[in-house]
Amino acid sequence: MIDLPEGKLFVGGAWEEGTGPEITSIFPADGSVNRVLRGASQADGLRAIERARAAQADPAWRNLKAHERAKYLYAIADGIEANADRISFIQTRDTGKTLKETKALAMSAAGTFRYFGAVLETSDEALTVQRGDAMTLSVYEPLGLVGAITPWNSPIASDAQKVAPALAAGNAVLLKPASWSPLVSLELARIVEAAGLPKGLFSVLPGAGREIGNLLVDHPDIARVSFTGGTTTGRQLARQAAEKLMPVSLELGGKSPTIVFADADIDQAIAGVLFGIFSSTGQSCIAGARLFVERPIYDQFVSRLVEVTKRLKVGNPFEADTQVAPLIHFDHRESVAEHVEAARADGGEILCGGRMPEGADYAKGAYYLPTIIAGLPNTARMCREEVFGPVLAVLPFDSEEDVIAQSNDNSYGLALGLWTKDFPKAWRVGRAISTGTVWVNTYKQFSISTPFGGEKDSGIGREKGREGMRAYMAQKSIYTDLSGKPHPWALPAMEGAA
Ligand code: NAD
Repeated sequence: MIDLPEGKLFVGGAWEEGTGPEITSIFPADGSVNRVLRGASQADGLRAIERARAAQADPAWRNLKAHERAKYLYAIADGIEANADRISFIQTRDTGKTLKETKALAMSAAGTFRYFGAVLETSDEALTVQRGDAMTLSVYEPLGLVGAITPWNSPIASDAQKVAPALAAGNAVLLKPASWSPLVSLELARIVEAAGLPKGLFSVLPGAGREIGNLLVDHPDIARVSFTGGTTTGRQLARQAAEKLMPVSLELGGKSPTIVFADADIDQAIAGVLFGIFSSTGQSCIAGARLFVERPIYDQFVSRLVEVTKRLKVGNPFEADTQVAPLIHFDHRESVAEHVEAARADGGEILCGGRMPEGADYAKGAYYLPTIIAGLPNTARMCREEVFGPVLAVLPFDSEEDVIAQSNDNSYGLALGLWTKDFPKAWRVGRAISTGTVWVNTYKQFSISTPFGGEKDSGIGREKGREGMRAYMAQKSIYTDLSGKPHPWALPAMEGAA
């Protein structure tokens, strides 16, 4: 049996009881309580900021050579890998995600730290082209203190995506995980501490958005906030950031289209569409939640999709064959169910799911059946609003132009999946749709070296990739005189003077 983290906060390198409002982590498969802990108050946050400021300004950190700083990132990566089973268990308890998925997320977080260590060691600064008698350089400095605010759906992976590049860049990082999933981020703190990172450079401050989240955005010493979460929160945060002219990166929501053309490999399309919407129980920003099927194959494709969906294994996240685990929380299930009821009221036809599963195995958990809804236009609420659950809207389309127009007629622009054997068509359609990521004949594939982010209401900025580290740095230009002479502008006044 693996122990869950105790529930103390990691405040600038010290384990302390929080003094903010209480938060409760539950295991959503049966509602049992994992931990009740006191979240971070503003006072806790202020202590963390003070310690971060001192640690970040310390030459022992600030002046580390790139290859020396990278060693900390490699040590954290090793620590995550060595503790992958433990992290996986904690995250499954905290979020209800399947053990298989949480293990993959842990390994991906380790890879992220290792990648940004390598980026740090291999990034160049530039000798720029000279236009006068000065050598010109473009170099990068750390920003100082970075706030990282993450959601509950893939905590260890989204934490790593912010913490690794921000530390690599030489900053101190204050991480605020979501209140429903505080435990795995506290476990990350334990690993970072064991890796020997100087105290103060990293804090983990779970707690309420309005309390500790706001502090991280508003405090004058925080130089950048990297946020992943809902569009409404992101918009509010951007307003606050504008007030102090602080850069923010925003990874927000989505209502991503998946498109199946009549010439697609049907098995590949069925598997990809189902994985795109129902893995992670649909709690994924990139969930392919609007499916467009070309009209000649629409009836046949949708009926097979429904048949396979009904056979998906809904169950306890600790069971090896579970494909669809419970939702994160009972409140979230209520919100998913409300969206489905609204779709029903709008005239949607529920082809499968649309309710909680029956039976003793499910009675205590926040389960909801994979749901497919037909008969709604692309303008319906179900096709516009993010549900963040296992709910798929299916629609027919008639032509390339039609599906491009319908896909783009949405406020979000995060991801797109399309299935066809015609590569030039995939190229045309992929380029014409407003989206941060395109998957052709696959879905939810990721590489840390490939940038990720959204268009329109899905966000601002990109994470991952070599440039991911630069987002946490300030560019500085340095001119150094090579002429060895006084500036001619001052010479007339200087002549004859003492
Ligand atoms: P959320 O917006 O409610 O919360 C995200 C984080 O912001 C949490 O830590 C929360 O406590 C904090 N927060 C809330 N109010 C705040 C405030 N006023 N100031 C500062 N921080 C505040 O989102 P959620 O429900 O935790 O997560 C689900 C959302 O996240 C979905 O919309 C999903 O699409 C999005 N998401 C996006 C990506 C992406 O990369 N684009 C990835 C995962 C999740």
